[in-house]
Amino acid sequence: MSSWWAAIHGYRHPVLDAALHAQVDRFAHVMFGGLTHAPAVELAELLTGITGFDRVFFADSGSVAVEVALKMCVQATGVPRVLTVRGGYHGDTAGAMSVTDPDGMHGLFRGHVVEQVFVSKPPSERHDGDLDEVRAALTRPLACVIVEPIVQGAGGMRWYDPTWLAELVGLARAAGVLVVFDEIATGFGRTGQLWGMDHAHVRPDVMCVGKALTGGTMTLGAVLTTDELGERIGGAFMHGPTFMANPLACAVARASVELLLDQDWRGTVGRISQELYDGLAPAADLPGVAEVRVMGAIGVIELEQDCDMSVLQPRLVAEGAWVRPFGRLVYTMPPYVCTTEDIAVITGAMVRALA
Ligand code: PMP
Repeated sequence: MSSWWAAIHGYRHPVLDAALHAQVDRFAHVMFGGLTHAPAVELAELLTGITGFDRVFFADSGSVAVEVALKMCVQATGVPRVLTVRGGYHGDTAGAMSVTDPDGMHGLFRGHVVEQVFVSKPPSERHDGDLDEVRAALTRPLACVIVEPIVQGAGGMRWYDPTWLAELVGLARAAGVLVVFDEIATGFGRTGQLWGMDHAHVRPDVMCVGKALTGGTMTLGAVLTTDELGERIGGAFMHGPTFMANPLACAVARASVELLLDQDWRGTVGRISQELYDGLAPAADLPGVAEVRVMGAIGVIELEQDCDMSVLQPRLVAEGAWVRPFGRLVYTMPPYVCTTEDIAVITGAMVRALA
């Protein structure tokens, strides 16, 4: 599970541990209002360099990165309302919950969160008129549209047609609506491209990253944007958390991103993808299995009905892998350090436990 998809380099990686040790020997934290420090500057330069954005805001977690992205768009436009798609997941805080599928895990809090504008899930295959709803929604006053590029993660582990995303961006631009991509789950190679958006060859106005940013060692999110949006926000952006740009998190994030980029991550994710595909394929013939699908280093067995976790999880462990299913989804997002043998252990445990 890579600790909810974050520990891409596995656990206790010596390079990440060394970066943390070195930073704690310098200083662990200092406020980031009116002060700056090398770990934040170096990480910001690295992130802007690899994404082509101009500015970065460091947030405390993925959920807070989503709050920050939405608030940036609201502050820049003066419009409160946001457009999104069903089937999405953006986090646990109030703004993030408001753009998460209302029929999903946050249904209980429906009355507590702002009512946003939702359109249907992006389609796995294109059909005529599948953006008509979006076109109609974009006529309303909106601060932005927010989506997870290509893969909807915690909302259902499903992927959709990249051309739909490209068209969505085109329509939003034509309507003068800002575009936010939540790359918190999809970023850092997980889908086979560095970013989910690379499948569609598009760029948003604002992009959120988190999870694998620190290689799963510390909580940190980053929100990237353009000078243009920065200018529109005007003076100070009204968000100032106490632990903004925590130096330990920034130092280990830089080490993790450099470690990823210095290796043939594309080759590794491609190999893992093929092994997941081969290893999980036999599950397609099991009774009760609706679909087996693989994208990048994401392997999913979707069941016809919700699984009974109390039965299935001990079975998975007995078969050799700790996997945490949810609802109808038994899935894996293994660390990129997994060998061919490791992947065989994981896929074998999933297939045998379900059988
Ligand atoms: N956005 C997406 C796409 C996510 O998958 C998640 C976490 N599952 C979040 C936001 C929230 O991140 P965090 O749990 O770090 O707050």
